[in-house]
Amino acid sequence: MKRYDILTLFPEIVLAPLRESIVGRARKKGLLDIQVINFREYAQDKHHVVDDLPFGGGPGMVLKPEPIFAAVRDRLREGPKARVILMSPAGQLFDQETAKALAAEERLIFICGRYKGVDERVREPLVTDEISIGDYVLSGGELPALVVIEALVRLIPGVLGDEDSARGDSFYEGLLDHPHYTRPAVFEGMEVPPILISGHHEQIRRWRRKEALRRTRKRRRDLFREAALNEEDEALLKEIEQEEN
Ligand code: SAH
Repeated sequence: MKRYDILTLFPEIVLAPLRESIVGRARKKGLLDIQVINFREYAQDKHHVVDDLPFGGGPGMVLKPEPIFAAVRDRLREGPKARVILMSPAGQLFDQETAKALAAEERLIFICGRYKGVDERVREPLVTDEISIGDYVLSGGELPALVVIEALVRLIPGVLGDEDSARGDSFYEGLLDHPHYTRPAVFEGMEVPPILISGHHEQIRRWRRKEALRRTRKRRRDLFREAALNEEDEALLKEIEQEEN
C-alpha cells in the first residue's frame, strides 16, 4: 500500500476531496493510505504559532522552520524512505512525466505552504522535490497537493477499473486525447462520426489515433517534439495535412 502524508494548516481543504470518487475508492480498496496532518500541532510554543515576520522587513508572514521540521521528522520515523515534496510556484512545473515518476514511489510527504511561503531553510536539508502546478500564485499549497495526488492516484495499478483507461488519456503517450462521444447518435442536429458506430474496431482505432494527432497538431504542436511517433502516425499526419490544406 502506498502512503501519502499531507502537511497543512488547513486540513479541511483537503479532507473532503480525498474521500470522493477515484481517490476515495483507492483508499477504500486499501491501495493507498493518505494521512492529513496539521503541522500546527508541532509548534513548540503554547500558542502554537507557525508563522513570523520576514527578516529584512516587508509585508506578509513566513512559515517558521521548526514546526515543519518537527512534523516531517516525525513522519519519517515511521519509515525513513520518503520523498518530501514542497508545493511552490518556484518549483519544477508538474507534468505527466513527473506524475509517472512519483506514482512509482511508495511514500510521499507533501508540504503545503501559506502566506509568503516557507522559511528557505526547509528546502535544503528536508525537501527532495519542489513542485509547481503552473505559472500563477495561489494562496496555499493545498489545492496544488490535491492536483498532484489526483494525477498520481490514477496511475497506481489497480486504481482505475479498466487497466488501460489511463493509457488513452492526454499526455500519456505524449499526445492529446481523441474526441469522445456517447448516445444519442444525433443531438440537436449534431451527428456522431459514422465510423464510431460502424463496429469496425480497426478503423475506429485508426480514426481515434488520427484525431488525437489532428488535435495535437492544431492545439499543441510543441508536444510533437517529445512524442514518439511511429510509421502509421507519420502517414496519418500526411493525410491530415492534405485534408487541412
Ligand atoms: N511568495 C511565494 C508564493 C506564496 S503562495 C512565491 O512567490 O513563490 C503560498 C503557498 O501557496 C506557497 O508556499 C505554495 O505552497 C502554494 N502555492 C501557490 N501557488 C502555487 C503553485 N502555482 N504551485 C504550487 N504551489 C503553490
